[in-house]
Amino acid sequence: MGWVGAAILLPMAVGAMSFQVPNREQRLQAIGTTAGLSGALQRAFAPADDFEPVPAPGPSDWLAVHPESGQSFEQFVRSGPNRPDQKRNILYLQPLGEFRPGVAPPLDSLREYAAAYFALEVRVLPSLSLDRQNITTRRNPTTGHRQLLTTDILTTLKKRIAADAFCLLGITMEDLYPEPSWNFVFGQASLRERVGVYSFARYDPAFYGVPRGGDYARTLLRRSAKVLVHETGHMFGLAHCVYFRCVFNGSNHLDESDARPLHECPVDLRKLHHSIGFDVPQRYASLRRFYRKVGFEDEAAWTHRRLEWIVGPEEARRLVATVDEDAKS
Ligand SMILES: [Zn+2]
Ligand SMILES: [Zn+2]
Repeated sequence: MGWVGAAILLPMAVGAMSFQVPNREQRLQAIGTTAGLSGALQRAFAPADDFEPVPAPGPSDWLAVHPESGQSFEQFVRSGPNRPDQKRNILYLQPLGEFRPGVAPPLDSLREYAAAYFALEVRVLPSLSLDRQNITTRRNPTTGHRQLLTTDILTTLKKRIAADAFCLLGITMEDLYPEPSWNFVFGQASLRERVGVYSFARYDPAFYGVPRGGDYARTLLRRSAKVLVHETGHMFGLAHCVYFRCVFNGSNHLDESDARPLHECPVDLRKLHHSIGFDVPQRYASLRRFYRKVGFEDEAAWTHRRLEWIVGPEEARRLVATVDEDAKS
């Protein structure tokens, strides 16, 4: 069982070891040798100028508080992580409670994004009413908001996981807590049982009594899409990234989470590719299409640049046109 993206009631003790930012050599070592791979894959796993090294953490940032040592591609493979196979290859999303339009991120966009990101089929299940489940709740004394006990949710999800599921992920607009002594938790997962739950509640400014602002819908979709792939990545056995600015960086607070990019670094792309076996250029073309559709123009431009680096401008144009055309028909 792993705590994910947690914040606790008491100040955390800072570990005796402090985090050392990996140098260029260490970043390349984490990717591993790509000799013997196709030219396209060698370029896909080469950082070129498209990825920034992980920055030195500020005092309240994740790596200052949790000085993790990282997980290279080779360490990932050796850990024997769960992989989708012939029998279990569908990502299921289980909404818990209400997802009100205008307040919650659109489930269909989240489904579409996860499908493009992991190149797997993603299904959104009908929402579970919280009243009918045996889920312990409490009212958080600081925020005044209702909170759901994650362990009860995981117990419910374990009973409901489908035979063809790679994993079943509960998502909710309610706030969560993992045990009475904790203030809250963003999410929690059991990798062995292939279930997890996470909340988007704290990505909504209204949670803190702050006005939502004009660009709220896009901001919430970006934050939710980010947490969705980050937490789903843990289900594939990906540990936090300490090498580059990456969607799999740990985060301790909202500013840190907002500063993370939507894309993964070459170390994590290689892990996902090893696990899922997708076509890397095809996947980038699908992601670019999604980013254009929802107005994430910076991400669309980054993805297009990356695609051009891997397959060349002409082939990139052809792939993008094919994916866009398929989406219309
Ligand atoms: Zn995490
Ligand atoms: Zn990474």
